Amino acid sequence: MSASPTSATVDRYVVIGNPVAHSKSPAIHARFAAQTAQALDYQRLLAPLDGFVASVLAFRDGGGKGANVTVPFKLEAFTLANRLTPRAQVAGAVNTLRFDGGEIFGDNTDGIGLVNDIVGNAGCSLHGKRLLLLGAGGAARGALLPLLEQMPAELVIANRTLAKAQELATLAQSVMASGACANVPVLASTLSELQQTFDIIINATSASLHDDVPPIPVSVFQPKTLAYDMMYGTRPTAFLQLAALHGADCRDGLGMLVEQAAEAFLCWRGVRPETSQLLADLRADLQKELT
Ligand code: NDP
Repeated sequence: MSASPTSATVDRYVVIGNPVAHSKSPAIHARFAAQTAQALDYQRLLAPLDGFVASVLAFRDGGGKGANVTVPFKLEAFTLANRLTPRAQVAGAVNTLRFDGGEIFGDNTDGIGLVNDIVGNAGCSLHGKRLLLLGAGGAARGALLPLLEQMPAELVIANRTLAKAQELATLAQSVMASGACANVPVLASTLSELQQTFDIIINATSASLHDDVPPIPVSVFQPKTLAYDMMYGTRPTAFLQLAALHGADCRDGLGMLVEQAAEAFLCWRGVRPETSQLLADLRADLQKELT
């Protein structure tokens, strides 16, 4: 009879952040591990704000195999990694680390998680669509290459601070010029000057965290526009409420959370977990919080 695995013998992973107590990642990865019969241990690791690198290296030197990285350490993780995926290079940020001998491999799975949720779970192709990305912070940049790879008809990046939208559009141009993906027309705009309607609108601003709506004209919505908010919660965000009022189909970022985790699991374990049941269960948990 074989001994059951203990935390001393199974591969160990962490989500590292500050704060990190709220993270759903341990529960998500425990479900993935059970479903795929992978023996692993996944915990939260609170790193001091000035101690990210030391915490990661201590974990690795103690036998850790990999880590998810969350706020505020994704830029430091990017610097720490000595091999990067193309999407992490474009994102300028890393949310997944894998320790391969002396190598620290860095990936960014947020953007592909977003795409997999829209295309795979929502069943909405991005190919040939007019796409509006609201925001030009870390989440928007992380999504840039995975979105361009889907070959939308055009990508408009709109941000409160126009210069940041322009920077992201310039980055997109250089990524396309490098041959990393096919050419897509990319434009930068302020939020209020948007003039056309869009097939898909992704809210990658942090306005929802403050129950705020980015100040966009409602003419951007048309019936059946997919309005996607990267944030999720027990209730639709203010952005999704506005979008629904104007006929849009609405989706929050819970699926993005699950899909970015599935992609990290694939990076570590070489096996892709199935996500639909977990997503349904997490959605039900959120509903329970309401009652
Ligand atoms: P950043 O702080 O890097 O960027 C914030 C962006 O929001 C900037 O473009 C900023 O504009 C804009 N913004 C902030 N407040 C407002 C406002 N009131 N009106 C209009 N624009 C505003 O944040 P992140 O990019 O890291 O995160 C953005 C969102 O994505 C958050 O809600 C986060 O929770 C979510 N997220 C979800 C994930 C998931 O798995 N579901 C993963 C990662 C992020 P300006 O440049 O003018 O300051």
